[in-house]
Amino acid sequence: MRTWGSVGHYLQGPDVIGEVGRYAGLFGTSHLFVIDSFVQGLLGKRLFSSYEARPECSHETVLFEGEISRTTIADIESQICGAPDVIVAVGGGKVIDVAKMLAAKRKVSLVVCPTIAATDAPTSAMSILYTDDGTMNDIVIHTKNPDLVLVDTRVIANAPVRFLSAGIGDALSTYYEGLSNEKTGHANYVWCDTESGTQTLAGRAIAQQCAATLERDGASAVQACRENLVTPALENVVEANVLMSGIGFENVGCSLAHGLGNAMTVVAQGVRSLHGERVGFSTLSLLVAEDYSSEHIERVARLCVSCGVPTTFEELNLNPSEQDLEMIADAALAAESWGASPVHLRRGEVVDLMKATDALGWSVRKEMGA
Ligand SMILES: [Zn+2]
Repeated sequence: MRTWGSVGHYLQGPDVIGEVGRYAGLFGTSHLFVIDSFVQGLLGKRLFSSYEARPECSHETVLFEGEISRTTIADIESQICGAPDVIVAVGGGKVIDVAKMLAAKRKVSLVVCPTIAATDAPTSAMSILYTDDGTMNDIVIHTKNPDLVLVDTRVIANAPVRFLSAGIGDALSTYYEGLSNEKTGHANYVWCDTESGTQTLAGRAIAQQCAATLERDGASAVQACRENLVTPALENVVEANVLMSGIGFENVGCSLAHGLGNAMTVVAQGVRSLHGERVGFSTLSLLVAEDYSSEHIERVARLCVSCGVPTTFEELNLNPSEQDLEMIADAALAAESWGASPVHLRRGEVVDLMKATDALGWSVRKEMGA
């Protein structure tokens, strides 16, 4: 069986966040904002000014800080006073994932306004939960994806460029991991708690367009973001990072790059990098492991360097010992996503793979004068 899942509606452009009241009002009249205090300070005025012209809509806010665990979700639940029919998440991945949990439990609509373009959280039907001490321990698959994703590209352009680069690293994996899944016939993530579906042609086409967009516009989008400018290249890459990568990974599946990237968090230094930074580096590992041509691998490595995606241990703030690399290798081989790759390696080979990726990164950076 082929399966497909997708966000309901998607709007992207400069200053759209000022219209959040109007768009959320299409789904209901009692709106609950889930937001962190930093983002509230940054955007609060703009978000809530849109309600002055809509007396029929009410809004309340709950602040979310820290780790997303079952304890903090219960704590947020207890702060809700009214009976919201629309949940609006404003912020990064954790705020979005907690809002998905609240919307699913209450069976109400969900509007997501990502303030960075770093991960695939905004469009997906997945929440990643952690234990109270910060260890990832549970993936919850929701019945539906968010009803609306509202991406304000001016907000993204004003966020630190590191987040856009990390999003490019995450998005870069989508096409190649999709190809791994295509080769092995591995199941995708659409209702994967109960179904075992494979890719649609539509999913593949989106993953392919995602890679092509990054190759064409990645470097100039990063340049624009450094200058806090909204340009067509930035718009294209935000669409690749948020929409195409988000829909892409759910529909074509993950493989070695996520298996290895997520495994890096088993060593203490692993959490000094962002998810997309680890996955970007590990996408190069995937290309090496799955025996892509040297020309192809170097082309992708140059793209990473020009987009600020880490290609060396040093850029990941890792200084791994042999034992660290072995721990990462064991965790990667045990990851469910690694099973979607056609290559079967042993611990020592995974250690060599990581070292080979680091060496490739140094050589390409040197060649580019980076
Ligand atoms: Zn990812």
